Amino acid sequence: MTRGLPWGLLAGLLSVTALGSEVPQTAPQPRSAYFSLTNKGAALRFYNRLANNKYWFVASDAPVEGALASQKLTARSGERLVLVELHGVAPARLPGELARMDDFAVLSEPYNEDLHMINGQAVLFGEELGAKLHSAPAWTDGLSPLHAMTSRVVTHLSTLSVDPGFLESHVRQLSGDQPVTIAGRRLSITERRQDDNKANARAYLRQEYEALGFTVTEKTYRGGWGFGTHVNFVAEKAGADPSRFLLISSHLDSVGNAGADDNGAGTISALAVAKALKDQELRYSLRILAFDEEEIGMVGSAAYAQQLQDEGQLDSMIGNINMEMTGYNSANDGAFHIIDCNENTSAELSKKFREVAERDQDLRLRFVAACTNRSDHASFWRFDKPAVVFSQNFFGGDGNPCYHKKCDKVDRMNFDYMTRMTSLLARVTQELLVP
Ligand SMILES: [Zn+2]
Repeated sequence: MTRGLPWGLLAGLLSVTALGSEVPQTAPQPRSAYFSLTNKGAALRFYNRLANNKYWFVASDAPVEGALASQKLTARSGERLVLVELHGVAPARLPGELARMDDFAVLSEPYNEDLHMINGQAVLFGEELGAKLHSAPAWTDGLSPLHAMTSRVVTHLSTLSVDPGFLESHVRQLSGDQPVTIAGRRLSITERRQDDNKANARAYLRQEYEALGFTVTEKTYRGGWGFGTHVNFVAEKAGADPSRFLLISSHLDSVGNAGADDNGAGTISALAVAKALKDQELRYSLRILAFDEEEIGMVGSAAYAQQLQDEGQLDSMIGNINMEMTGYNSANDGAFHIIDCNENTSAELSKKFREVAERDQDLRLRFVAACTNRSDHASFWRFDKPAVVFSQNFFGGDGNPCYHKKCDKVDRMNFDYMTRMTSLLARVTQELLVP
């Protein structure tokens, strides 16, 4: 039964077809909510929960006890409430702004507004007020099972590097620059928003992962608001102890463009790591996810995290390394982000990336601090699980200028940088999983 419509998608369609004056009769989100700035650990029931290094920013149906600041806000007629990460770059007041607390704001926004580019700025992200209340497990502020894995001193492993030619040819194929052959059929994956193109992209990935000896499954879920069936792609290599797994992820969908960097790059980085580790014995399983519907509000990863929880699998997850845009570096300075926002035990994962980047000078990579909730890793934070984003220097002034534009194609990419980024990911993964 259909409970409603995916308004994000509908709004996207309306905006591209220039029917933007049509507004849904009833929004699935509540019209009002309490918005609170709290210490970490203070809220276990919420519609949304965003983090920065110090605080949580929570939207909920009731005031949060002990909140540092709190306001009840209501959307303007025909609009929706949106939470925005400001990254210290926002002007004094944004259009539609209702309130601001620390580095977060709440806006009342028309449905056709692109939440990836608030006020036309690519680093300003919005998140729609959630429709359902979420109950989180209690905040754990200690060491995770990851600690033993990330803190061991590793000197006995071979130094992994990935092949730049493999990365380039596969990004070209996943972003329609070169045709692919799937089960004898030659076609081009020109974009990854339409269902048939996404199905082709998954069939392509299936072929690639099966050739590496990985087991592939497609995990379906009901989309956005119970509208249609959508698919997360899963590839797995079992470890000696298959009861625990490390989750490496990217999103496979695009905003209707070629999506070479966003997020063909992250998706192919994951494939290259699978190739680098295919013949190694692993202690725990390596699970690689290509999420659906990230671009309409991290819908695929939210559904997957909930499925893991419902199936009693979430505690088997060691942690999540999520990749967003690993292929653009115009400054050629090797700058990268590994983002943990000081959430639960996520810093144990990011610390490993920083240590390996510092130790292995051949990678010529340099860490730049940032914090964002705006990718699939945040779906795991809401269940108090360690998760990080590994990304180009998006918040340090060197994001891809073709982000969410037609020109996000291979000609903008720096495959030397992507090779070094992917090699770092491969070495970290090896140190975590190879005995
Ligand atoms: Zn993306």
